[in-house]
Amino acid sequence: AVALNNVTKAFGDVEVIKGITVTIEKGEFVSLLGPSGCGKTTLLRMVAGLESTTSGSIFIGERDSTGLPPEQRDIAMVFQSYALFPHLTVLENVLFPLRMRKLSARDKQVERARAALELVQLLHLADRRPRELSGGQQQRVAIARAVVSEPQVLLLDEPLSNLDARLRENMQEELIQLHRKTGLTTIFVTHDQEEALSLSDRVILLNGGQIEQVGSPSELYSKPGTRFAASFMGSTN
Ligand code: ATP
Repeated sequence: AVALNNVTKAFGDVEVIKGITVTIEKGEFVSLLGPSGCGKTTLLRMVAGLESTTSGSIFIGERDSTGLPPEQRDIAMVFQSYALFPHLTVLENVLFPLRMRKLSARDKQVERARAALELVQLLHLADRRPRELSGGQQQRVAIARAVVSEPQVLLLDEPLSNLDARLRENMQEELIQLHRKTGLTTIFVTHDQEEALSLSDRVILLNGGQIEQVGSPSELYSKPGTRFAASFMGSTN
């Protein structure tokens, strides 16, 4: 589980996260949803340890991770720009985090990297370079690279927003499959309510650095608790 306890974040005098308390259960797929500037990315980066917390605490599993650097948190993150290493093959890209952490013997590492590629159905492209892949395939490599070290929590920051509409739908389906297969606790940032509704077990709707509503997709859609929630969930962006 990931537990946020009264978490705040200020940049200078400006408080952009204003006291967020919520628990994401083990194995859950949760979306952080809300309009531009509401604090989704900042909150995700705080869970990752890429941004400090001004006050409050963040537990990852049993561990108080509030002050820990990213590499000491049991998380992996995929960004909007997937940033693969262009000079490395697909397989070498996925191997990279295992090499860094010297997790196991070389042949064990290769076995794990190949299993991660299999999970995103890209094993047949293991020897290609990133530039020889489509955008969707590159994003799948980035996801394989994130899950290869078997983190406790997967953090996804608008990973599909650079893809065209059709590819995006395919990738949504793949994310659902990946979650089914791995059972990874996943936090997914998006400003797209349809995407949040179709992917998530629960949606955390943010507005101005605060939680507006938390609930299942059907609750948010059919029982919005506030005027903001009603208009945001009903709008087509
Ligand atoms: P978007 O969907 O546009 O990415 P978001 O919901 O992810 O938006 P954040 O990127 O978390 O929002 O930003 C929340 C607020 O914090 C914004 O007002 C932003 O300008 C501000 N902010 C984010 N990072 C910094 C920073 N490093 N320094 C100062 N202000 C920042």
